Amino acid sequence: MNNLTPGPLARWLTGPRFSALPAPAALPAPRLSFEFFPPKTDKLEDQLWACIRRLEPLGPRFVSVTYGAGGSTQERTHATVARLVAETSLTPAAHLTCVGATRDEVDEVARRYWAAGVRHIVALRGDPPAGASEYVPHPGGYAQAEDLVRGLKRIGDFEISVGAYPETHPAALSADADLDFLKRKIDAGATRAITQYFFESETFLRFIDRCHAKGINVPIVPGILPVSNFQQVVKFSAMCGASVPAWMGQLFEGLEEDAETRRMVAAVVAAEQVRLLQANGVDEFHFYTLNRPDLTYAIAHILGARPRKA
Ligand SMILES: Cc1cc2nc3c(=O)[nH]c(=O)nc-3n(C[C@H](O)[C@H](O)[C@H](O)COP(=O)(O)OP(=O)(O)OC[C@H]3O[C@@H](n4cnc5c(N)ncnc54)[C@H](O)[C@@H]3O)c2cc1C
Repeated sequence: MNNLTPGPLARWLTGPRFSALPAPAALPAPRLSFEFFPPKTDKLEDQLWACIRRLEPLGPRFVSVTYGAGGSTQERTHATVARLVAETSLTPAAHLTCVGATRDEVDEVARRYWAAGVRHIVALRGDPPAGASEYVPHPGGYAQAEDLVRGLKRIGDFEISVGAYPETHPAALSADADLDFLKRKIDAGATRAITQYFFESETFLRFIDRCHAKGINVPIVPGILPVSNFQQVVKFSAMCGASVPAWMGQLFEGLEEDAETRRMVAAVVAAEQVRLLQANGVDEFHFYTLNRPDLTYAIAHILGARPRKA
């Protein structure tokens, strides 16, 4: 293990441990960020903005907007981020990927963000477009996230977050090689990693130990996915390499047609997960909201977040 240098990761690793879950009031207020996806229809647009307005008073550090597979949502992502700048008190972060575009094209998107006042990019390699099973770099494009981070830093002094994989990216040659990739993204200029979702708190805690041992000292923020549709999560997890514990299947068993009870169970599952992380010193959380505010709001509340007074 390296010497502990100051920073959130070191604080989490050396902070107090509790034998039972402490009351949220005994812990620092959590720092939150929320992730949205850009809507396809007017109805979904209304749903997104209702979600944003509901979560805004919780004062997140930033909110991020995803970039569809293969860059398919470029305009919609930009429009959502630009509206966040113009109409809310929130600090947006735009996701940007390397897929299906030349470096010049990606750079142009980044310049547009800079010109619109956006200073935070979540830089990703990206998933292949629908129908393609494997990632193939564009001949004139950025090959992977590390190159994109470097390219973005040439365009402006963006704050850059990158992806991290507590259970190892499915394309990685090994868990250790995966961490080398993460380290290279940090060395290229990223200052935060946001993780793929996971369901066992221990998985994340072991991962940050390994990050620290590799000399990665930036905050590694756990990505929290409140499970509103268990079957969908099972399908998606098989593709992205996240494991779904058997106990979760048992908890959601028999609730396929009962969305209301499912939501209550989901709140309990996520609350237990985040409180365990919080008791282990983690005080930053990134929520995959899926543009639905209620579960995220409830879980943030349990962590101790309260709306800001207007
Ligand atoms: C927080 C978060 C947000 C996301 N948002 C989006 C989004 O908005 N849009 C979207 O399309 N996708 C998104 N993704 C998914 C992401 O694009 C995929 O997981 C993608 O497959 C990898 O992206 P990356 O930036 O982590 O890639 P990289 O860091 O470039 O690579 C990921 C891993 O793949 C392996 N790898 C990559 N290149 C090589 C190589 N040449 N040789 C050997 N191994 C290699 C390494 O193990 C590496 O750690 C998100 C993921 C996360 C965690």
